[in-house]
Amino acid sequence: MNEEQNKIPQATAKRLPLYYRFLNNLHNQGKERVSSKELSDAVKVDSATIRRDFSYFGALGKKGYGYNVNYLLSFFRKTLDQDEVTKVALIGVGNLGTAFLHYNFLKNNNTMIEMAFDASEEKVGTDIGGVPVYSIEELESKLSDDIPIAILTVPANAAQGITDRLIEAGISGILNFTPARITVPDRIRVHHIDLAVELQALIYFLKHYPLQEGEE
Ligand code: ATP
Repeated sequence: MNEEQNKIPQATAKRLPLYYRFLNNLHNQGKERVSSKELSDAVKVDSATIRRDFSYFGALGKKGYGYNVNYLLSFFRKTLDQDEVTKVALIGVGNLGTAFLHYNFLKNNNTMIEMAFDASEEKVGTDIGGVPVYSIEELESKLSDDIPIAILTVPANAAQGITDRLIEAGISGILNFTPARITVPDRIRVHHIDLAVELQALIYFLKHYPLQEGEE
């Protein structure tokens, strides 16, 4: 991440990958410009927000022209470190972990799961989707300095212990898919994704706040 990114508000930064993916598709289709309305329809973010977000990127849309796709793409590549591959380790090769190993963010091409760890003897020594699975006992010895991020897909009761070891081993970001709320020092960033909670929330919203036609 470069310095320019420090000026971008967090809410805007979170939408960057979304914009990036859509603009990349447009670029692949040979499109050179895009209007905020088109973007808004595609990424489901209102156009006022898009205009404000893009002003942080130094991209000012021109009336009747829209935004320059190439300019935006090169900005996003730089900001999202798309030119650099970020290596990731995955801990816990259960159902979810296995799915991630097969998926391995191939469409993103800037993130790659480099190695996985598990406690089960049956899984250790295997290769899933081209990713080697090592014993959790080897965590400290196998994790190299160039892996800054870990995906956590172990059972909840193992989450904190593994987290402590990951931090000790030099990891700086954790994508936590376990339901456990893990405690980390301030310098470590944790993003928590609880799929069951997300699904429950969606069901609740569908029931209690049904969307009307044309509403976002
Ligand atoms: P999922 O929750 O992904 O659907 P699952 O139901 O197949 O997985 P879990 O019991 O949640 O299995 O365990 C996920 C994986 O984490 C398993 O492969 C298990 O062997 C592994 N695991 C369990 N404890 C540890 C640990 N302490 N360290 C590393 N891996 C562990």
